[in-house]
Amino acid sequence: MASSRILPEFELLLPQNIKEAVSALGKLKSKASVMAGGTDVVISCTKGFGSPNVISLAEIPGLDYVVYDSKKGLRIGAMATLQQVADNADVKKRYPALQRACAINGTPQTRNMGTVVGNIMRASPSGDCICAVLAIGGKIVLQGPKGKREVNIDDFYLKYRETACKADELAIEIKLPAISAKNAFARMTRTTLDLSKVNVACSLVMSGKTVKEARVAVGAVAPTTIRLKKVEAILKGSQITDEVLQKVVATVPTEIKPIDDVRSTAEYRRDVAGVMVKRIILEALGK
Ligand SMILES: Cc1cc2nc3c(=O)[nH]c(=O)nc-3n(C[C@H](O)[C@H](O)[C@H](O)COP(=O)(O)OP(=O)(O)OC[C@H]3O[C@@H](n4cnc5c(N)ncnc54)[C@H](O)[C@@H]3O)c2cc1C
Repeated sequence: MASSRILPEFELLLPQNIKEAVSALGKLKSKASVMAGGTDVVISCTKGFGSPNVISLAEIPGLDYVVYDSKKGLRIGAMATLQQVADNADVKKRYPALQRACAINGTPQTRNMGTVVGNIMRASPSGDCICAVLAIGGKIVLQGPKGKREVNIDDFYLKYRETACKADELAIEIKLPAISAKNAFARMTRTTLDLSKVNVACSLVMSGKTVKEARVAVGAVAPTTIRLKKVEAILKGSQITDEVLQKVVATVPTEIKPIDDVRSTAEYRRDVAGVMVKRIILEALGK
């Protein structure tokens, strides 16, 4: 049995550009893992779940960007770290849900090594950046042997830890829209350094006091992070009154399918998710 301390042998590939990385992936497909910060990939290797080949993105220049444009929105490159995104002034101002999801992620060490794109590609149902990006909306830019394509985050997660990214594709960047929506993220964990037992995020486009558009995401309550379509329908066209919030709290448990696991019971998750959604709606609106 693999020791949790000893890193088993694997072939480390260090492509110098995206073309070389895509070509290596095209040849090795599922016999290779892509590695960005490696905070998950390396742990998987020590637990005996690693691939015989690891394609590191570390030596490809120019992938660590976080760029905001008032028309095109935010672009986050595949090697931009969680800390870089948490510290970015545009992210702080316009995407507080994502800023928070990055700022609370792991430890200073994992935030300085781990990437936002890695968090998205890890496809954990409790992934904090996934929850924030699903609420804000966005696209994953993938590059394979036949060129680039963009997949909407709404269509990206197919089932438990399975994404629309093919075995010969690399994620190059994620794009978030240039929004004026008010957004917020919150999570609940057993201890500060733990994965979420429940995480929630919302993004609300307001017209005066009325919600024009709403996106609400919840993680760790189903095989993938999900949007709460019934809750979004309640919010759309409504003013945020106590009555509307009560309806939201009552509706959340009808849209989720939590399980019992090491972090929480299904019952607890079902009980707290609605209250957490109510709180982030108020937080997003500055109430
Ligand atoms: C101590 C610790 C604490 C953590 N805390 C949290 C937390 O609070 N919240 C949370 O959500 N997560 C947490 N994590 C999980 C995870 O490590 C981080 O989410 C991190 O963002 C992953 O990024 P990375 O760059 O290190 O990914 P990597 O380990 O390099 O990759 C992760 C996965 O994504 C794939 N991948 C990465 N980049 C690409 C790409 N460009 N194209 C295709 N596939 C790619 C890899 O093949 C792998 O399957 C924690 C991990 C540790 C070790």
